[in-house]
Amino acid sequence: MIPFSPPRIDQKVIDEVTSALKSGWITTGPKTKLFEKQITEYCGNKVSVAVNSWTMGMQVLLHWWGIGEGDEVILPAYTYCASANVIVHSGAKPVMVDVNEADFNISVDAIRKAITPKTKAIIAVDLAGFPCDYDAIMDLINEEAIQKQFNPHGENQEKLNRILIISDAAHSFGAIYKGKRAGSLTDISTFSFHAVKNLTTAEGGALCFDLPENFDHEIIYRDFCTMILHGQNKDALAKTQKGNWRYDVEEPGFKCNMTDLQAAIGLVELGRYEENLDRRKSIFEQYDAAFKNESWALTPLHTTVDKITSYHLYQLRIDGITENQRDKIMQLIFDQDVSVNVHFLPLPTLTAYKKRGYKMEDYPETWNKYHNEISLPVYFDLSDEQVQMVINAVKNAVSGLMM
Ligand SMILES: *Cc1c(COP(=O)(O)O)cnc(C)c1O
Repeated sequence: MIPFSPPRIDQKVIDEVTSALKSGWITTGPKTKLFEKQITEYCGNKVSVAVNSWTMGMQVLLHWWGIGEGDEVILPAYTYCASANVIVHSGAKPVMVDVNEADFNISVDAIRKAITPKTKAIIAVDLAGFPCDYDAIMDLINEEAIQKQFNPHGENQEKLNRILIISDAAHSFGAIYKGKRAGSLTDISTFSFHAVKNLTTAEGGALCFDLPENFDHEIIYRDFCTMILHGQNKDALAKTQKGNWRYDVEEPGFKCNMTDLQAAIGLVELGRYEENLDRRKSIFEQYDAAFKNESWALTPLHTTVDKITSYHLYQLRIDGITENQRDKIMQLIFDQDVSVNVHFLPLPTLTAYKKRGYKMEDYPETWNKYHNEISLPVYFDLSDEQVQMVINAVKNAVSGLMM
């Protein structure tokens, strides 16, 4: 069976984790701090904070931004449930909008229609690793009429004095937009290092800050390190220094720090990340070449003059089929020992969001993208021979359905 997205675990990873285990320090410590610095260097943002998942990092971020009941956060209907769940937990209302025709990303026109005086943030998802139209989103929220209806509450919102643009960059580590890397494309970007992502730490994530100059990023860094550790003003490592045991808690915090065991994996992954991207790119090119002349194949947009994907997901779509037929094709692919996937079940199809009144028919382009979508395996260890097996399995399955 060809798996869908196994992690790349080799001797190098095992050696690094072993060395972290033997170092006597296994929770947040020197390796996490080094990993944060290297993320910042790679992405070109101002400061980064490592956390235990995208989800908890985002939860703390929404808390810091002062979001709560009565507020609205705009996001695409086409994303993983985490993007919306965090908004629900913050007390604000997720305002879902449709995606573009040309790609799987949030539509700027749809954002325009959804903005109200209650809008506090936009979560733009770089789906499959393809960056959103950040310049267009920024121009939109800076339009005088839209900026003027922003209703700031609290110090941070007053300082920014406009809607906060957050990038859900769970897929896009290493992606490029107008010469800059994901992580530095907007106010704040959030990465996921979950086991299936391009860069993994088993579980993990990072918040990458790139706010305007009137924000002090050193203070932001310190505040977030405190918020992700119960609000304690000293971390465990600092408390082990001689006589340095006393600490204070000024506000109740969260608990979602990254451990040095996770960071040990991340440091290896980051050190060879370009090699990972090159391999993924080659797999994308093989899929493109194999499907571009098939009349039934809709290949994904992943590179333009302004944007280069991080090659996270290859979202193939099959023209002219129903959702049911897509599911049948997937079964026929699985029957040939190839794992495929669907990214994603749109949020309005999930019980949790149906119950909250969201309706699939309000997001026609999301449905259009989802109902015939099949994600193909892409990962460093996938050999050219296996790529060919995937291609054959897909072609056989599609012709199998047509018969
Ligand atoms: C994986 C994923 C997340 C959640 O990441 P975790 O690290 O598992 O919390 C959020 N958004 C998108 C688009 C994802 O694919």
